[in-house]
Amino acid sequence: MKNDHFSSLNPQLQQKLVRLGIRSELELILHLPLRYEDETRLYPIRDIPDGKTGQVQVEGVIIHCEVITRSRRQLVCQVKDASGILFIRFLHFYPSQVKAYSIGARVRVLGEARTGFFGAEMVHPKCRIVHEESPLADTLTPVYPITAGVTQTALAKLIQQALSRGHSREYMAETLPEAILQHYQLLGFRESIALLHQPPPDITIDLLQSRTHPAWRRIKFDELLAQQLSMRMHYRQRRSYRAPALQERNHLTHVLLATLAFELTVAQKKVLAEIKSDLSTTSPMQRLLQGDVGSGKTIVAALAALQAIENDYQVAVMAPTEILAEQHYQKFLSWFAPLGVTVAWLSGSQKKKQRDLELNQIAAGHAMLVVGTHALFQEQVRFFRLGLVIVDEQHRFGVHQRLALREKGSEPNWLPHQLMMSATPIPRTLSMSYYADLDVSVIDQLPPGRSPVVTKLIDESRRSEVIARVREACQAGKQAYWVCPLIEESEALQLKTAVETYEFLSQTFPDLKINLVHGRLNAQDKSAIMSAFSQGEVQLLVATTVIEVGVDVPNACLMVIEHAERMGLSQLHQLRGRIGRGSEAGICVLLYQKPLSQIARERLRIIFEHSDGFEIARQDLKLRGPGEFLGTRQSGIPMLRFADLQQDMDLLEAARTVAETLLRDYPEAAQRHLQRWLGDKNAYLRV
Ligand code: ADP
Ligand code: MG
Repeated sequence: MKNDHFSSLNPQLQQKLVRLGIRSELELILHLPLRYEDETRLYPIRDIPDGKTGQVQVEGVIIHCEVITRSRRQLVCQVKDASGILFIRFLHFYPSQVKAYSIGARVRVLGEARTGFFGAEMVHPKCRIVHEESPLADTLTPVYPITAGVTQTALAKLIQQALSRGHSREYMAETLPEAILQHYQLLGFRESIALLHQPPPDITIDLLQSRTHPAWRRIKFDELLAQQLSMRMHYRQRRSYRAPALQERNHLTHVLLATLAFELTVAQKKVLAEIKSDLSTTSPMQRLLQGDVGSGKTIVAALAALQAIENDYQVAVMAPTEILAEQHYQKFLSWFAPLGVTVAWLSGSQKKKQRDLELNQIAAGHAMLVVGTHALFQEQVRFFRLGLVIVDEQHRFGVHQRLALREKGSEPNWLPHQLMMSATPIPRTLSMSYYADLDVSVIDQLPPGRSPVVTKLIDESRRSEVIARVREACQAGKQAYWVCPLIEESEALQLKTAVETYEFLSQTFPDLKINLVHGRLNAQDKSAIMSAFSQGEVQLLVATTVIEVGVDVPNACLMVIEHAERMGLSQLHQLRGRIGRGSEAGICVLLYQKPLSQIARERLRIIFEHSDGFEIARQDLKLRGPGEFLGTRQSGIPMLRFADLQQDMDLLEAARTVAETLLRDYPEAAQRHLQRWLGDKNAYLRV
């Protein structure tokens, strides 16, 4: 669409429009109103509804106008019609306004009225001079998202022009087959667009404002459909690569299962069956394994790994932090060494000699399982025959990193199977939309015998009681974490706080064995401290949030989190998940400092009231919206501008089904639909 009218606009204007995401005539047309103003009617001033009833328009004559200084300089005018007087007030104004609103001038005023000091008043209304015969608008006035340098009026005009030109253009043609329009009772595309830009006079404004009008529903459906199409196409694309078929052999897996001290939960068995069946085909698995903290994802990963190893394929296990990677390494080693499976270890801080040794083992195919951090992505890492990649806490890795590992496949058109694990449960609406390019398995059950963690919210001023509690617990043979506050602005400051906390607690508890773990320690020290803690040689572990992910020390049953009000919900949930892993009931003390912001108060309430990770995630999503929730995944995935996953669940379900139908039966329509909504933004995520 290079030769469309957009490119003939002046370049400065084009640049400004690009800031609004508008790069073509079509994108001008798809730039839909935020809301509408009703300038089709006039209210008598006496009948103006009070309070939050939305905007109303009145017309009258200025009978008084002056600049006054009441707490600050402001322009106050009185407008009179046949029924009463309205005060209008401007806190920012130009000298030209003072001049224009002179006594006798007729004005049309649009705004939200409320009862002020003098009676009905509007602050900063839209206000313009009119004549007695100035006609009223005959349609609702759309209000568009704008940017500096482009006014409402200018943008509205550009859109109108684009609309009239676009009317006959190919890019406005219906993309959906008639049968689908009928079945889902969808309004036509062109019709919907026209209606939203130029609503007819008789329309119910509420249906437009709440975006429940069929025209809005059509647009939201289209947007969701484009997202589904894009994600499903990439899914299919990846499926078209070849992967080794890793048959179920069940030699080693059965031996491992027999040595475990526990039996798999029903949920673990279910997800394992899904994974096993994926692995046995020649299409690369791309599965996301979700399960709340402590639901037992690691053993599932180990059993999946064994299926690859039994077929003489190597497995890479990646974790986002050294502590977690090290812990996985120890765990896998303890499970796999007795089976005669060699496990290799790669980390960034490893000595060169050790590293070379491991690299050789991997390249020669002696090491069948490789555990590591980001170090696994490095170029020197050559696998002999990589069959499966397991990524723990997948949301911590960027898209590019995962991509790099893919390149480790030996032949072209070849991809290893991939299992991604996440302890941040993803609400269903999100996993249906933003994760539609993956298969999802959920462990929806915790192993038996877990006692729920009791959460206590305690004001910082009652710190001494908490200290007494910690001493008691440790003296009774239990172990505890003391988590230092998160200081986002500065890592150095965070470290300083952690060291100070450690010193303070060492003085407070001269009788306890205390240690400190933080992100700046080298890997060896970190792992020495963690293993001392897991062997019970350390009673109280002071820690920064490095322990947030994955750490598993069942005997630790008390956790104190300082400045809990600074932490995000998923972080709090993850931290809290470190305790209550053994049979002992866990206690999590959230120390907070007042004053609490609205959002902090809300977060603390949610974490206090809920222990189910999915419920917490749902609430978190409501609090923050999908953008932040998705984190790194956001880059590259088509985000939604119009559809609202809470409100439009039914449309999402429909879009999912229709996407499959289009890809199967109407590939050309699918292509056109994608082109309209995503254009070249469709070239994303290939992992
Ligand atoms: P997460 O899903 O958070 O990664 P882990 O895999 O670390 O959880 O498991 C948490 C703890 O639960 C570990 O100590 C693990 O050995 C134990 N566990 C896993 N599955 C079961 C089970 N079916 N029954 C009892 N304990 C289990
Ligand atoms: Mg884990």
